[in-house]
Order: sequence, then C-alpha cells, then structure tokens
Amino acid sequence: MPLTNMAGPTMELGDRLDAARLKQNVPLAPYTTFRIGGPADLFYDAISADDLANAVAAARRSGMPYFILGLGANILIGDRGFRGLVIRNAARHMRFAEDGRVWCESGVIMRDLIAESVRRGWSGLEHYVGIPSTVGGAVWQNLHFLSPAPDRERTMFIAEVFESAEDWDGYSQALSLLAGGLAQAGQHREAIAQYRRLEALLAEPTRAPSPLLRHVTAGHVHLNIGMSLLALRRWAPAAASLRAALPLLQRSGVRQSEARCRYGLGSALTRLGRVDEARTELRHAVRIARRVGPADLVDRALAGLAGIGPPAGRARWADPAGAGQIVPGPGADTVT
Ligand SMILES: Cc1cc2nc3c(=O)[nH]c(=O)nc-3n(C[C@H](O)[C@H](O)[C@H](O)COP(=O)(O)OP(=O)(O)OC[C@H]3O[C@@H](n4cnc5c(N)ncnc54)[C@H](O)[C@@H]3O)c2cc1C
Repeated sequence: MPLTNMAGPTMELGDRLDAARLKQNVPLAPYTTFRIGGPADLFYDAISADDLANAVAAARRSGMPYFILGLGANILIGDRGFRGLVIRNAARHMRFAEDGRVWCESGVIMRDLIAESVRRGWSGLEHYVGIPSTVGGAVWQNLHFLSPAPDRERTMFIAEVFESAEDWDGYSQALSLLAGGLAQAGQHREAIAQYRRLEALLAEPTRAPSPLLRHVTAGHVHLNIGMSLLALRRWAPAAASLRAALPLLQRSGVRQSEARCRYGLGSALTRLGRVDEARTELRHAVRIARRVGPADLVDRALAGLAGIGPPAGRARWADPAGAGQIVPGPGADTVT
C-alpha cells in the first residue's frame, strides 16, 4: 500500500527516500523462503548500493527500527510481522574486470552471479550454486558447503574466494586501509594504534554487519598487529596477538591469512626459544601455503624450519629447505 500516514519518523523517511518505493503494511511472507510471516509497517525496495546505504542511514537518523532483507532464505518472520522499516536489498549491479575479479552490489542473487560467471568461462563460485542467497546474505553467513564428492573432506567457505566488502559507512574499512598503508611504509607503531582503534570499533555491536566480517576483520586486526609487533622485534606480544588471530581466521576460512599467521607465529616462537611449537606452526604454514598460496610464504616458512633445524634425534628434514634467516612476515594485510 502506498504511503498515507505521514507522521513523525515516517514523514522523515518519506522525505529522505524515494516515496514511490516506500510502502506501508506490506505482507512479508512472499519475501521469505518459508512463505510465512505478517506485515512490515514500512517496506522499501533499495535498488542500488547507495540507495541501500541511504535507507539505512535514514532509518538510523529517524530512530526507526530497520531490517535488511536479502532473499529471506535464513529468516523466519512471526505472524505479527515487523514494527519498523524492512529494506529489501534489490541492488543488483555487477561488473566483471579483466583481472579475474568480479565486483557486485550486495543484492545480486548468487544464482545470477554464478550463471553470469559461468557464461563468461569464469570459475570459483560454482560450488555454491543451489544455495538460495543474495551476495550480502552470503557474506553475512560466510556461505559454506561440503567440498565436492566423493571425498567431501572439508567445508568450503565463500571467504576462500571473497576478497573484500565495503560496509555501509565505510569507516572501519578506511581505518584498516590506513593502518595497512602505515605498516607497509614501515610505520608500525602508528599502524598498531590505528588497528587498536579498529578493534574498539568492532567491539561496538552495531558496527560490523555480519559474523563473517566481524571474524575476518577481528582476525586480521590481531594478525596485522602481530606482524607489526614482529617487525618491531617484540616477540612475546607478537606471539600473543597472532595466537588470538588464529582461531578467528580459521573460523572464517581465510586460508592464506591463516598461513601468514602461522608463519608469523612460528617466527615469533622461534625467537622466544620455543622451537617445538615454532616448528609445528611453520609446518602448518608450509602445508597451507602449498595448497592456497602465497607461494613465497612456502619458501620463507621452509627457511624458518631450516633455521631451527630438525627435531632432536632426526638428522635431517624429509623436506630439504635450503638455508636462510627467519625474516619478519609481511607488514600488513588489509582487511577489506
Ligand atoms: C533450502 C535452503 C538451503 C540452504 N543451504 C545452505 C547451505 O548449504 N549453506 C549455507 O551456508 N547456507 C544455506 N542456507 C541458508 C541461506 O541460504 C543463507 O544463510 C543465505 O546466505 C541467506 O541469504 P539471504 O540473502 O537470503 O539473507 P536473508 O535470509 O534475507 O537474511 C539473513 C541475514 O543476513 C542479513 N543480511 C542480508 N543481506 C545483508 C546485507 N547486504 N547487509 C547486512 N546484512 C544483510 C539480514 O539482515 C539477516 O540478518 C540454506 C537455506 C535454505 C532455505
């Protein structure tokens, strides 16, 4: 039903949004997989990323409770419906770049993205075909499914092919980019200070929009702080930070970052004289980096292992590594 009752926060929303797409008393059942649920007081179709961000900002400014709706594949709505504004994400633009990356708005439906990718001869996302989701929902959920038959030996997460996302206000992203730049420029103390601010932002429940972004971001914050501490030769706090990063990175399925983290941790533990633990971490780093990259990390972790030497009682490594010094890991990976 078009908007008739224009009072208070509703009037404010009507001023800020395209009134033709702002509707009242809209049944939500047709918008969910289970086809159940009562009406939303207000319902808005956001048709671009800017429109979506604007709708969220308008709801926040007017104090109106809001809910972002993707394909409705992971929600149940009660019979009484939703008191506030439901913003349906119909932002569906996508761009395919020459370098093999695809950029898209978060309302793109995974099935359409996969179909278009396959039509262009691209692979990487097809594993998730058949799971109902928008791209935003996939990031929220860290979409996952068992690896292909017959082995099905692990769960594959969309984080493995996902590079970055912009959150709606972009603030945490801007901070992480700044910190990454500082670390790359060798300004590790300043980078650590920025990462600590990002850590504080993440502690605010309304900031990170999804468990995936929360874990990935928090994991990278600890990882990057750890790597900067390593570059500052502060071995014990570096090891502590990298230890904190590890479970978060594992949970999010970001394997390259896990490999870097284990490499950094192995390096710190080596300097602390905890060689058995260091050996374990460096071996994990080699194993993961051999599967998913980055290739240079394999060499560096092998050099680290060679620096420690074989375990007591073993004359030589099964995997000859070439001599080399342990070098600090990369200054920073950015979160995005
Ligand atoms: C038959 C069936 C099979 C399924 N199989 C799998 C499976 O194999 N693997 C799997 O991982 N999941 C599976 N799911 C769950 C579901 O597909 C995923 O959770 C999916 O990612 C939900 O996406 P959506 O767009 O429908 O999100 P919705 O259900 O609409 O929303 C889910 C949550 O994400 C939030 N959200 C959505 N978009 C955004 C955004 N742009 N910004 C911020 N928040 C957002 C919503 O506010 C809400 O909290 C299955 C579901 C069904 C019904």
